[in-house]
Amino acid sequence: MIITVASGKGGTGKTTVATNLAVAVGKGTTLLDCDVEEPNVHLFLEPKNLRKTPITTMIPVVDQDACIQCGACSELCHFSAITLVADELYLFPNMCHSCGGCVMVCPAGALTEGSRELGELEIGQWNDIELISGRLRVGEAMSPPLIERVKEAAEGRELVIVDAPPGTSCPVIAAMNGTHYVLLVTEPTPFGLNDLKLAVEAVRVLGMPFGIVINRADAGDDRVVRYAEEEGIEILMSIPYSRKVAEYYARGRLLVEAMPEMAEAFGGLVEKIRAAVERGTR
Ligand code: SF4
Ligand code: SF4
Repeated sequence: MIITVASGKGGTGKTTVATNLAVAVGKGTTLLDCDVEEPNVHLFLEPKNLRKTPITTMIPVVDQDACIQCGACSELCHFSAITLVADELYLFPNMCHSCGGCVMVCPAGALTEGSRELGELEIGQWNDIELISGRLRVGEAMSPPLIERVKEAAEGRELVIVDAPPGTSCPVIAAMNGTHYVLLVTEPTPFGLNDLKLAVEAVRVLGMPFGIVINRADAGDDRVVRYAEEEGIEILMSIPYSRKVAEYYARGRLLVEAMPEMAEAFGGLVEKIRAAVERGTR
C-alpha cells in the first residue's frame, strides 16, 4: 500500500504527519521524501548508511553544422524547449521534458541524446525504516522526473509513505500518482481551508481515496470540520495544538516517541487508512 501525505500549502505539518506515521508503523515501512526542492524528513529521522546516486535525464544535443533548419523538431516540441528562429536552432534545457521526440523526427541526424543532472537520490535507514529521498539540483526546474525516480526506487515495498511537495501543481500530482490513499494535512484557519479545497479538487480529479488530518486542531475554528461534513470527507485524526507539541516539533522530536497518546493515534491512523482503501472512499 502506498499512502501520500500532502497539503495545499507548506508549513501545515505534512512532514510531521508523514514521519510520525512511518515511525508508528515501524518495521517494513519505507518513507519517501518527494519534496525534492526542500527535503526535510532527515531533520526528524537522521538516516544511517546513506547512499547517494546522481540522477540524470535525457536532453537533446544539437549539432548546428548538421542541422538543415527544417523545423521538424521545433514543430513537434509542445514545450517550446527547442525552437528554430531565423535559421538558428535554440535549445532551452529547463523547458525540456526529455520525451526524445525531437531526436526521433530529425531527418539530418543533427540531434543526439545527451544528459543533464537533475539531482541526487539518497537511500538510507532509520532504525527499521527505509528512507528514500530526492534532492533537486540547485537551479533545476524539473522536479517531476526526479520524484518519479524516488518512487521507482521504492517499487515492490510493502508499505510506502510519501511525503509530497506542498501545493497542487505538477510535482504534487507526480508524487500522488499511482498511490492508494492521499492524506491531506490542513489547519483550522481560513487559509488552511482555502488551500484544503484546492487540494481536494486535485485529488478528486485523480479519483483517489482520501481523508483529512487536522493539525493544530485547537488553534482555529470549526470551518474545516463543517466543510468536511458538507463534502462527506472523513477526518481521520486531529493533532492538538499545545505548548508541548510545539516544543517537540521545534526540537525536531517525534510526537509518537514523546507522547504515548500520539503513538496510539498514529498507530490507529494507518488502520483507518487500510479500512478506507478497502472501502474505496472518495
Ligand atoms: S526531448 Fe521532447 S521536450 Fe525535450 S526538446 Fe525534444 S521534443 Fe522537446
Ligand atoms: S529536426 Fe533536425 S535538421 Fe530539422 S531543425 Fe531540428 S535539428 Fe535541424
